Amino acid sequence: MSNYKIETKCVQGGYTPKNGEPRQIPIIQSTTFRYDTSEDMGKLFDLEASGYFYSRLQNPTCDTVAAKICEMEGGTAAMLTSSGQAANFYATFNIANCGDHVISSSTIYGGTFNLFAVTMKKMGIDFTFVSPDCTEEELEAAFRPNTKAVFGETIANPALTVLDIEKFAKAAHAHGVPLIIDNTFATPVNCRPFEWGADIVTHSTTKYMDGHGAAVGGCIVDSGKFDWMAHKEKFPGLCTPDDSYHGIVYAEKFGQGGAFITKATAQLMRDFGSTPAPQSAFLLNLGLESLHVRMARHCENAQAVAEFLEAHAKITWVNYAGLPSNKYYELAKKYMPNGTCGVVSFGVKGGRKAAEKFMKALRLAAIETHVADARTCCLHPASATHRQMNDEELIAAGVSGDLVRLSCGIENADDLIADLAQALETV
Ligand SMILES: *Cc1c(COP(=O)(O)O)cnc(C)c1O
Repeated sequence: MSNYKIETKCVQGGYTPKNGEPRQIPIIQSTTFRYDTSEDMGKLFDLEASGYFYSRLQNPTCDTVAAKICEMEGGTAAMLTSSGQAANFYATFNIANCGDHVISSSTIYGGTFNLFAVTMKKMGIDFTFVSPDCTEEELEAAFRPNTKAVFGETIANPALTVLDIEKFAKAAHAHGVPLIIDNTFATPVNCRPFEWGADIVTHSTTKYMDGHGAAVGGCIVDSGKFDWMAHKEKFPGLCTPDDSYHGIVYAEKFGQGGAFITKATAQLMRDFGSTPAPQSAFLLNLGLESLHVRMARHCENAQAVAEFLEAHAKITWVNYAGLPSNKYYELAKKYMPNGTCGVVSFGVKGGRKAAEKFMKALRLAAIETHVADARTCCLHPASATHRQMNDEELIAAGVSGDLVRLSCGIENADDLIADLAQALETV
């Protein structure tokens, strides 16, 4: 599959049935797998042979879908997780231990920010947050001797900033650490971070990849390009013996292309168990089969909506990287020449009250705490996810009272614009 274009990988990647086998991927709804001898099973437990024994660690349906995403991103190994949160936790915790430090872009998903700044901090891992627009010098200054990774989002949710992946990759590599990119909003259809120097990619598959609001899920993909053994002293978890597997050294036994995902599966999935259901992986695969078609339409609709809003007298500002007036227009062109995503944010003239009134009047766009769905949805963070905050706190969080986040679906753009136009008439 590796020579095929992204569209072909979306449809056919990860699974090639043999003569007489099911055309669609089989759902292996089984927690366990049968073996002839204890020796056979013992080899699996020692990681001496590959195979399935218990679905908390690995399941064939999940692995088939992970293999498709791996091909789409151009990686060497991948695993599914039960959520995007689990994917970002595993991706960082797989290399950062208590006493270590990670640098992250400050404009990241709120859930990830909480995971890093609160929960992982309690585990003894320190995070420094830098602006995605920081200079090379500012980025450089954030590194410490115990820094183990750099993290950012291709397009941040909900700030919609675009990350200069090459700038972040260069700094990470100069310090002998990998760059982890959450590629949820762009998807591999619009951006493949490995082509720009990223080492690990994560996804909340709950968003565009699923695309129908059907199943929560996540994914981690390894590019296989990071040489762990060359920075042995920084990554003891990958480069020194694992006592829980008779002293195997992941980076030696599974090589540069397999070590990261094998360790995350064998240790983190074994111990934390954030396993997706095979049924959810099947649903995710259905979404992936049309991802390339849907992304193009999401972007086309968002572009039309953003242009309509920008020209509207009752709109004070519009944030969408596809608009030439946007700060990230040039970066978006470089990293995502075919479009960014379907999410647009904007301010309604009259502030908080006007935004609430406007949202109430919408007919097609449903109010939901969700984005990246085939159906258009919207959220007024000041009265939902951020409602405990007063006006000053909102501004500090980068969420103004007038901000509306609109996730453009794949309906007809004229209908979406007509809905926005009639709702704006009420304010
Ligand atoms: C939603 C989201 C997550 C978290 O994913 P869940 O599947 O909800 O756990 C992580 N990163 C980004 C960019 C997201 O949009």
